[in-house]
Amino acid sequence: MTDGVRAPDCVVLGGGSAGWIAACLLHQAFAGRGATVTLVENPEIGIIGVGEGSTPQLKAFFDRLGVDEAEWMAACDATFKLGIRFHGWSKRPGFSHYIHPFPSPVDLHTEPPYTRVCAAARRGAAVDFAHPDDWFLASRLALAGLSPHAADSFPFAPSHGYHFDAYKLGAYLRGWATSRGVRHVRAEVAAVECAGDERIGALVCADGTRLTADMFVDCSGFRSELMQKTLGEPFIAFDDNLFVDRAVVMATPPPGQATPLTEAIAMRAGWRWRIPLQSRCGNGYVYSSAFVSDDEAEHELRQALGMLSAGETRRLRMKVGRVRQSWRGNCLAVGLAQGFIEPLEATALHIVIHTVERFIAAWAPDAGPDRLRAFNEAVATRYDGIRDYIVAHYRLNQREGNFWRANASNHSLSEPLKQVITAWFTHADLRQRLAEIYGPHSAYSSASWHCLFAGYGTFPTRPQPVPHDMTMAGEALATVQTMLAACARNFGPLEAS
Ligand SMILES: Cc1cc2nc3c(=O)[nH]c(=O)nc-3n(C[C@H](O)[C@H](O)[C@H](O)COP(=O)(O)OP(=O)(O)OC[C@H]3O[C@@H](n4cnc5c(N)ncnc54)[C@H](O)[C@@H]3O)c2cc1C
Repeated sequence: MTDGVRAPDCVVLGGGSAGWIAACLLHQAFAGRGATVTLVENPEIGIIGVGEGSTPQLKAFFDRLGVDEAEWMAACDATFKLGIRFHGWSKRPGFSHYIHPFPSPVDLHTEPPYTRVCAAARRGAAVDFAHPDDWFLASRLALAGLSPHAADSFPFAPSHGYHFDAYKLGAYLRGWATSRGVRHVRAEVAAVECAGDERIGALVCADGTRLTADMFVDCSGFRSELMQKTLGEPFIAFDDNLFVDRAVVMATPPPGQATPLTEAIAMRAGWRWRIPLQSRCGNGYVYSSAFVSDDEAEHELRQALGMLSAGETRRLRMKVGRVRQSWRGNCLAVGLAQGFIEPLEATALHIVIHTVERFIAAWAPDAGPDRLRAFNEAVATRYDGIRDYIVAHYRLNQREGNFWRANASNHSLSEPLKQVITAWFTHADLRQRLAEIYGPHSAYSSASWHCLFAGYGTFPTRPQPVPHDMTMAGEALATVQTMLAACARNFGPLEAS
């Protein structure tokens, strides 16, 4: 978008995390050129109030707004996150858990030898050195309980995300936005006026107020009032390969010693998260209603948390999939109104930020079909790439039980995911194949895919000759360990950060 292009007046429908993130970004991008942003929400409907884990994209978002990290973290009960630790998704000895770490510049030095060690293991060499936790700086720091912030003299700190209270995050962003001029309307949108097939004319509130704009941003949650209900945009369900559709959530007292990781623990018909905040621990069991009843799921969660008779739970339904187009006419769908891939990799707010930033970059008052097509394809590619990575967690599992066996034997995979799995088992160069399969918009890096396959201890069973330069796994690991130990000395304890 060039500075001379007229900026759009925007109305955002919805005051959940998606709505306020969108309002902040749109205001920052467009207000300087005279455009207004209005956010309308019905407090009586409320927000979904879950979504407590982020990717490093949330840090980039706050940096972009110029918000001080310590300030918003204190206001939102937030803690640091350096990755996700998966427990019990694999039954292979030595691989009962592994971390999917956030990237760091140090990976440039540790990932190539790790890839070679994995390549050797894929050909039948010993897998003893292929566990991902030994090779990445973020994992090392997380396991040692160290802060993601390094001494000033060490400019190679890993990217980090956060855990936070979703209600407090919304309130903080509301304060940021409204104090800078975003108009906040508390009202039910009772009707939507259309202006032709592809365009929304106005939102009509229950008291008769009409809200008009150049762009309408649908952040109305799973209701998707504008994009799906009004414009009739088709919804592409992911239920043929993502079976989970419900969640039960419950808070427990804060952990004594917090680890900067989201814990993702396999359960009978899904998995549960454990997210440490400053004043409590967030827990939730994400499950498939086809394999376990709501009452059984709640009992299972309570049992796992040792809270059989105490503590309140909340039950949620999830609609997993995405709209075919996120931008149609003068409507942009963001957040749950746009779609949802289950929370395993905590990517929902990541997609929210990605979508709004892309929209800002692509905006033009006369945006024609080509521009919209390019935008929608890029967003869909990102969405589906994330979906594939999450589906792979289920497809590669080796657990017992109906839910897990149904996942392991599910052949309803996307073509790109089939190609990635084939590449791994046929010894192909995974980095190269990922670039070929997903192009420049690949959602997950080669390192992430290596962590997943090798973290499960999933290697081809038919041995191949191991080239000599792949056989020095022990030496390579020792070198990397020395390097990571030296790097870790630049980081202080979590509590002090
Ligand atoms: C079980 C679960 C776990 C999750 N975990 C994560 C995670 O770890 N990380 C992550 O990034 N995301 C996660 N998410 C997703 C995350 O919760 C959402 O993406 C995020 O909260 C944004 O929600 P939203 O703003 O789109 O919708 P909501 O919070 O539902 O907000 C919808 C808004 O629309 C308003 N509204 C609707 N209709 C009307 C109307 N007619 N008039 C006026 N207002 C209206 C409501 O009042 C509300 O303000 C999770 C989701 C679920 C279900």
